[in-house]
Amino acid sequence: MLPFARVAIIGMGLIGSSLARAVREAMPTVQLTVSDASAAVRERVAELGIADDVADNAGAAVVDADLVILCVPVGAMAEVAAEIGPELAPDTVVSDVGSVKESVARVLGAALPGVHVIPAHPVAGTEKSGPDAGFSSLFKGRWCIITPPPRADEVMVERLSEFWRRLGSKVDLMDAPHHDRVLAVTSHLPHLIAYSIVGTASDLEEVTKSEVIKYSAGGFRDFTRIAASDPVMWRDVFLNNREAVLELLGRFTEDLVALQRAIRWSDGDALESLFTRTRAIRRSIIDEGQDTEKPDFGR
Ligand code: NAP
Repeated sequence: MLPFARVAIIGMGLIGSSLARAVREAMPTVQLTVSDASAAVRERVAELGIADDVADNAGAAVVDADLVILCVPVGAMAEVAAEIGPELAPDTVVSDVGSVKESVARVLGAALPGVHVIPAHPVAGTEKSGPDAGFSSLFKGRWCIITPPPRADEVMVERLSEFWRRLGSKVDLMDAPHHDRVLAVTSHLPHLIAYSIVGTASDLEEVTKSEVIKYSAGGFRDFTRIAASDPVMWRDVFLNNREAVLELLGRFTEDLVALQRAIRWSDGDALESLFTRTRAIRRSIIDEGQDTEKPDFGR
């Protein structure tokens, strides 16, 4: 039996449209209704034919749904929750895909009292945005972290887990603050570093003329891919995971200064020992199936 029969997706960008395509493929009998704040996106989604119905607004999309998934930027969750609250049927599960979990759980919990709010985060994505960027296999073989609030209904948590497993994801349960600390290391800090390096290089462009772009293969190019990620989404990630990111940034700054010292004092052993350790981490990521050995030309 399907875990949910009538699913509503609010926000049809990269993640929402990928989810719609994946649901269509894995659970074709699910009645899928979607919506987006942007009329142009709604029109495009209707053209793409990736949902049964495209509603004009979030409230209209969730009527009768037994699962609602919010796929909007983290900073827009409160606004959408206020729109859908009055329209939700009893026992509907409201979930989301936001990259930060503690603040989203708080906002949704406050806006939707008495509703089964079970936040989640599929750890899968690209640097692209919008409904044309989505694809059905995005979640296959990737982790989806579900962060049930303390008194969440276990049956509903299991149904949501089964929903993600049907899309090909591996599911882990975690509390929201722990999720935010883990993701600060694996995703948020790397993005911040990429934004910073690419910003520095563009400031130096004056000096280097177009050489930064011309010789970008030397490592810079991989940072530019990450730094091309959606500005609104990432603004909201940093505003909503402030403590964990700031704490980690302190550690990172110290480690960077240690590297600075090693270079200044020609401490080759320190450099080589760190680079050997980091190479082993890359190998274990490949061994775990989280990336491939393929050369990364803009993947
Ligand atoms: P996206 O491609 O920019 O899509 C977001 C969509 O939501 C846009 O179409 C946007 O419309 C719409 N939207 C914004 N505010 C809205 C509102 N109040 N009501 C209805 N629709 C609204 O972004 P995305 O990459 O799919 O990210 C969506 C969520 O997934 C974010 O919470 C993000 O943290 C999370 N996530 C992203 C990734 C990733 O790699 N991209 C991975 C995992 C999770 P407009 O264009 O008009 O603003």
